[in-house]
Amino acid sequence: MNSYFPHDSNARNDEKILLLRMKHGMEGYGIYFAILERMRENRNYIHVKDYNIIAFDLRVPNATIKSVVEDFGLFEFTQDGKHFHSESFTQRMRKIPKYRQSNKRVRMYNYNVKKWYEIIKQVFKRDNYICQYCGKAGGKLEADHIIPFSDGGSDELDNLTTSCRRCNRQKKNKSLEEFKTWQTKRRV
Ligand SMILES: [Zn+2]
Repeated sequence: MNSYFPHDSNARNDEKILLLRMKHGMEGYGIYFAILERMRENRNYIHVKDYNIIAFDLRVPNATIKSVVEDFGLFEFTQDGKHFHSESFTQRMRKIPKYRQSNKRVRMYNYNVKKWYEIIKQVFKRDNYICQYCGKAGGKLEADHIIPFSDGGSDELDNLTTSCRRCNRQKKNKSLEEFKTWQTKRRV
């Protein structure tokens, strides 16, 4: 899974970064961003203060990691001293809308929109413009991924079905089985 984080285009000229580069050159700069990448993958963007792990991952000396983390004010430490994080990085992550952070949305975002509309037109036509979940005809129709997109479901015709807006909202990321069970329970 790919995760993204914002990188200021002038980061290299930030005062702290300049100090980092004066001491460690572009290697230090690379290490700094590699640490942020590791942080990005962690919950709450905090990293355990174990320089051995990072040194092993990046194949650079332990002392260099320690210096990058501790000598330039680029990171803050938790009170117990066991973890460190970057306040400015956390702030920047909070600013990106959730939908940009999610892999699924990024995939949708990048999807060829025109092609997508052609596909759903075929889906609606094949299903006679009838919601395949509740049998309602017409109205606001949507194409639903039978195997949810987030579970790796494809955009192929056989994974798409016509759904009214209401059913689609109710199904959300449920699998077909889960959705049917959910509908049955609701009717009782
Ligand atoms: Zn429906």
